[in-house]
Amino acid sequence: MIPINFQKIDIQKIKAEWLDNKEIALDVLRLDKIHPIISGNKSFKLAHYIGDCIEKHKTTIATFGGTWSNHIVATAYASKIAGLQSIGIIRGDRTTALSSTLIAAKTYGMKLFFVSRNEYRNKELTKEKYANDDWYWINEGGYGSLGAKGASEILATISSEKYSHIIAAVGSGTMLAGLTQSITNAQRVIGISSMKGNTNLHEEVKRLIVNIEKRESFDIIDDYHFGGFGKHPKLLIDFMNETYLEHGLPLDIVYTGKTFFAVKNLIEKDFFPKGSQLLIIHSGGLQGNMSLGDNFLTF
Ligand SMILES: *Cc1c(COP(=O)(O)O)cnc(C)c1O
Repeated sequence: MIPINFQKIDIQKIKAEWLDNKEIALDVLRLDKIHPIISGNKSFKLAHYIGDCIEKHKTTIATFGGTWSNHIVATAYASKIAGLQSIGIIRGDRTTALSSTLIAAKTYGMKLFFVSRNEYRNKELTKEKYANDDWYWINEGGYGSLGAKGASEILATISSEKYSHIIAAVGSGTMLAGLTQSITNAQRVIGISSMKGNTNLHEEVKRLIVNIEKRESFDIIDDYHFGGFGKHPKLLIDFMNETYLEHGLPLDIVYTGKTFFAVKNLIEKDFFPKGSQLLIIHSGGLQGNMSLGDNFLTF
C-alpha cells in the first residue's frame, strides 16, 4: 500500500582502514533510499497501522510529534496514499514560520493542532479533548506492536543471515523490537539510543518482542546521545561531513549520525569480536537535517 521500491534497497559496503585493522566488515542497509518522502524505517513501521485503520473502517489517522518529526511527515504521506485523512498533534506553540517538515505534512493534507508541552505530555487527556470516533490513533513515534511487526519485515528484504550484529538507532524502540524479533539465534541486535538516560527503553522494547526466546537478544547503548535527543554539537556535524566525504554516506543529525559515530567508536574500543560482520540500518530521516539551516552540512 505504501509504495516501497524494493529495487532501491541497496547495501553499501564501507571500506576503511579502521575496519581492516580490526578485521571487521561493515555494511549499511540504505533504507534512506527507498522513497523520497517516506524513507527509512517509517514505511515499514506505518504499514500495519494503516491496514488496521482501514480494516476498522476509520477515516482518519491521528498521531503526535514535534516540529521536525520524521514520523509526522511520514504519517501524513502514508495516510494520503491510503486515501485517509490525517491529524498531527504538534508539541509546542505554532510559530509564524512553519518548519519544512510541517509544511510538507500540510501539503499531504495533514491537519495540525498545536498544543502546549504540558498538554502534549498528557497524551490521554489530549486524546480525549480532540478525539473523534472516526480517528485511529498511532502513538508518538509509531510505538506499538503493529509498528514492530512492520519493522520485523526489514531484514527479510535482503539476505541478512551472514551478519553477526544488526545495529540501529533507537527512538521509541519499535524498530529495534521488530529487528530483534526477526534475527536468527546466532545474531544480536545493538541499539544506539538517541536519547539521554531513557531508563525505560529496555523494558519498552522487550514488551514489543512477541517471540519470547528473543527477548534478551538485544542491547541498548546509551553513551552516544551527544547531549540529548536532537542535540547536535560540532563534533557530530564534523563527523557527518567526514563520513559523507569518505563514503558518500549522508546521515541525519538525530539518529543515524549518532549511530554511525557509535559504531566506529565501539569498533575502536574492541566492542565487537574480530571477524564480526556488522550491518547498520540506515533508517532514513534526512529531511530532519533541514532544521540546521545552511552552512553546516556539505550534503
Ligand atoms: C523514527 C526513526 C528512528 C527511531 O525508530 P523507533 O522505532 O522509534 O526506535 C530511527 N531513525 C530514524 C531516521 C527515524 O526516523
